[in-house]
Amino acid sequence: MRKLIPTLLVAALLASAPVPAGAAGTGEGVAFVTLGTGGGPRVQVKRSQPANALVVDGAVYLFDTGDGVLRQLAAARLPLTSVKAVFLSHLHIDHVGGLGSFIANRWVMAARAPIPVIGPPGTDHMVTGMVAAFAPTERAPLGLPADPPLIATVRPRDLAPGLDTPTVIFDDGVVKVTAVTNNHYNVAPGAAGAGERSYSFRMEAKGRSIVFTGDTGPSAKVEALAKGADLLVSEVMDRPAIAQALRQIPGLTPAAMEGLLHHMDEDHLTPDTVGRLAARAGVGAVVLTHLVPGLDSETTADGYVRGLSDQFKGPVTVADDLGRY
Ligand SMILES: [Zn+2]
Ligand SMILES: [Zn+2]
Repeated sequence: MRKLIPTLLVAALLASAPVPAGAAGTGEGVAFVTLGTGGGPRVQVKRSQPANALVVDGAVYLFDTGDGVLRQLAAARLPLTSVKAVFLSHLHIDHVGGLGSFIANRWVMAARAPIPVIGPPGTDHMVTGMVAAFAPTERAPLGLPADPPLIATVRPRDLAPGLDTPTVIFDDGVVKVTAVTNNHYNVAPGAAGAGERSYSFRMEAKGRSIVFTGDTGPSAKVEALAKGADLLVSEVMDRPAIAQALRQIPGLTPAAMEGLLHHMDEDHLTPDTVGRLAARAGVGAVVLTHLVPGLDSETTADGYVRGLSDQFKGPVTVADDLGRY
């Protein structure tokens, strides 16, 4: 224990250190950092699970918190204590797997101001449950003050389920965030999961506008949200590569394969549909992330852009982990 206390204090001090010059963003001080660019639940080495940071003059706003988000924040030299708010596009595990450790670690690292955690209906339930699950961790002696309790350091908020037109959901004077429901859950009314929601976000700061699709299939609502944005950060899949990868799974029945491919077709975007979205919305540039299948064995990113330029003539970048745009 004696050794642990100084270690923790040093760690807390390091976490509060200012962001090194030049690391907090580009141009006008606004940067979108793709912390994790892999998509789907399968954990890969080269691409961490989905997580992003909007950085505005050193203030950090997280958009999704996939597993590995703490390590990716450290790698991006973005201190945990600089995170001002967390936004969740939806509650699939690849987007929330790092949320519990983020909340508990932030509390340990002495960043104890209540942080908004804003996401779909179910976010409050999830965050409150995570905090409850960490009660034994909270009680575990560290030599640090136990107050305030972990629950007091989070402010979970469920978005309204019916955000069918772009609606402002957050504005702290630094960044304004607008949200709309998207087209990631195609479920028949009354079927399991029919009440769940998924969202896309538009962030505006210092005159720059960035739209993050989260996970979605083609959607007129997302198009409306993205209208005239400087940057569209979009999910994308390589459909032929997914079919190929599924064929490698031993024991996957044809019916299961068909169901999974149907989900991909309905609920995700191809390079072609990203291009159509970007062109119709008239965005300035496109960054592609949430790459599925995003396998470590990939030697080219061609499958993520094939056909996109037939639809959209502006600049397109396939994101890497820790890329700044
Ligand atoms: Zn996903
Ligand atoms: Zn998803």
